[in-house]
Amino acid sequence: MSARPHIAPRPTPRLSVVIPVFNEETCLPALFARLYPALDALHRPYECIFVDDGSTDRSVALLRQMFQHRPHETRIVILRGNFGQHSAIRAGFERARGEFVVTLDADLQNPPEEIAHLVARFDEGHDYVGTIREQRRDVWWRRKASSAMNVVRERISGIRMTDQGCMLRGYSREIVDTINRSREVTTFLPALGSLYALRPIEIPVRHEQRESGTSKYSVYRLIRLNFDLMTGFSLVPLQLFSMAGIVISLLSVLFVVYLGVRRLLLGPEAEGVFSLFAIVFLLIGIVLFGIGLLGEYIGRIYLQVRDRPRYLVDAVIEEERQGEPS
Ligand code: UDP
Ligand code: MG
Repeated sequence: MSARPHIAPRPTPRLSVVIPVFNEETCLPALFARLYPALDALHRPYECIFVDDGSTDRSVALLRQMFQHRPHETRIVILRGNFGQHSAIRAGFERARGEFVVTLDADLQNPPEEIAHLVARFDEGHDYVGTIREQRRDVWWRRKASSAMNVVRERISGIRMTDQGCMLRGYSREIVDTINRSREVTTFLPALGSLYALRPIEIPVRHEQRESGTSKYSVYRLIRLNFDLMTGFSLVPLQLFSMAGIVISLLSVLFVVYLGVRRLLLGPEAEGVFSLFAIVFLLIGIVLFGIGLLGEYIGRIYLQVRDRPRYLVDAVIEEERQGEPS
């Protein structure tokens, strides 16, 4: 008999729930109170992986408390700064052990009770369970902007996702492994997941107002996220731009010829200078937009080449498991 303390072998979790947390001290108590009972009711081994994305409030302290309370089911990854929601989820994906991995927001906008419906679809054999928010509870301009972006994204990237913004989603072990393996800079995990899915399905889920606190997304961050989504999954913006460039330069050649002919036939003309200005401004505007677009792609290449880690882990708080290095 060995003298080492005996660590009971625990069953491998069949369900992993990954939750990014960024300054959510006001939401966490309510989340804990609903999440654990909802998962207990599923009667299968599970783990909750909370990824703290550089919170500066009491979030980490609350997570530690939860770990004391439910050490078997709770794992905490503390990142060394704010790397963004999707990088935080990636950090959780790389540690998830379950055969089905569900992502959830910490602010209770996605009701934890809905996880049961996702699991049911996974049990039926679907490897990617997307969701559509039945009645979205966000400010009106975000609802409108988001549905417009959904249409544009679907057109140019060909990725079928009815509601790209809903983060309550489930991914099979294979998809999570593929995402973990891909060295892509793309942060938008729901799109990446649906790209790798063989038997995807979408189900309607409830959506609630934020439990408390405010959205961690500013307008700027939302625009960045959408640029990432567009340029990360499609070359169409770039191609459209070069098409437009070709058409416009042909038209400008015609216009120059026309002006030349007028010069020969009518002599110098001063009128119409303003309309000429207007045209020049339009062309300059298009050129500037094109340069910006090129910049988006070059920026992506730069990030990809640089290949820095997308996140840095400060600490991991979890139970030691038999046969696994801690
Ligand atoms: N989040 C994060 N890092 C960030 C921003 C957000 O981990 O930089 C988390 C946040 O704590 C929440 C989830 O991502 O659990 C969704 O954020 P939020 O509710 O602010 O976004 P919204 O619902 O407004 O799109
Ligand atoms: Mg939210």
